[in-house]
Amino acid sequence: MKIWMILGSKEKLSTGAEMLAAARQIGEDRSACPTFVFPFGDGAQQAKDFAALGADVQIFAPGGKGDDLTPEGALFCLRACMAPGKEDFVLMPDAAMWRAVAPALAFHLEAAFAAGIRALRWEGEELFLGRQTWSGRRLAWLGLRGGPGVFTVAQGAFLPGERGEKSGSITSFAPLIPGGESRFCGEEPGAGVALGLKEARIIVAAGRGVGGPEGLDLLGKLATHLPGSILGGSRPVCDCGWLPYDRQIGETGADVAPELYLACGVSGASQHLVGMGRSGLVVVVNKDPAAPFFRHGDVGIVEDLGAFLPRLLEVLAEEKKK
Ligand SMILES: Cc1cc2nc3c(=O)[nH]c(=O)nc-3n(C[C@H](O)[C@H](O)[C@H](O)COP(=O)(O)OP(=O)(O)OC[C@H]3O[C@@H](n4cnc5c(N)ncnc54)[C@H](O)[C@@H]3O)c2cc1C
Repeated sequence: MKIWMILGSKEKLSTGAEMLAAARQIGEDRSACPTFVFPFGDGAQQAKDFAALGADVQIFAPGGKGDDLTPEGALFCLRACMAPGKEDFVLMPDAAMWRAVAPALAFHLEAAFAAGIRALRWEGEELFLGRQTWSGRRLAWLGLRGGPGVFTVAQGAFLPGERGEKSGSITSFAPLIPGGESRFCGEEPGAGVALGLKEARIIVAAGRGVGGPEGLDLLGKLATHLPGSILGGSRPVCDCGWLPYDRQIGETGADVAPELYLACGVSGASQHLVGMGRSGLVVVVNKDPAAPFFRHGDVGIVEDLGAFLPRLLEVLAEEKKK
């Protein structure tokens, strides 16, 4: 059985040790050979440290510095060296970058995908994967018959075992990469860089009531009138792909505390409220006077967004001309 553990070259040794513990649990009695892979490696010392844990280490030879690691670059490299039907399990840290890489790699490998694994156990040929739900109050088990599977492993969930008596081997690999090659060319701060949800003074939150990308576009225009503001959204808005997941607010999204929270077409489900409860002034716009959010707002506006937003934008534009 082949188990790959994918890491960035800046990853801590403790992260690798925990992943190795998870890999060993998956591989128990199944003649598994867990191997660390650094899609872009530059540290010989780091490779030695990880090999000392007792697993083999592979470094992607033509990789640049660890700073160059991007989800696209890592995926590009991993797709070049992993083939559908050949790999059993691939583990990655449960960090933002790897959560972007893992589902795409699973798709490439035609493998199952699970994020944030905190516990593992085999029952016969079925591998059970435990992950937190309800803000950590419950552990949900997913069953996977056989493989292959790509998982992200929650930090602090697996107890690193004893170091192996022998160090693992260190090899570098340079897969043939078909087609074009992309490379990281640096980054720079720019005027267009959005404020993060956590830093924003004002959050304009979109709910399913905005109706779709056009409604969201109106909210985007509203945000341009409010300096220091950013668009956020409820889970359905992100599930529909109207906003990226890093803009989701709530139990399974971000916990925010802006000075002003403007909720547009958000019903006020408890899972959303839990993420914005520390906000300052809360303004709620909803066409349903019975929407639960009104009980948690400072200012409530019962209006249809389709009529309200264009009129509000007109008023703001007129104000700007004065
Ligand atoms: C385990 C779990 C975790 C979850 N985590 C999160 C989370 O992190 N964040 C989150 O947001 N949700 C989360 N949810 C989902 C949550 O339960 C709700 O389903 C979700 O918040 C509802 O989103 P919404 O208010 O945008 O949509 P809806 O519930 O569909 O509400 C839409 C609202 O828009 C109003 N509306 C419709 N049309 C208009 C219009 N033209 N003008 C004005 N108002 C209009 C409606 O009256 C309604 O109140 C989670 C659920 C579960 C089970």
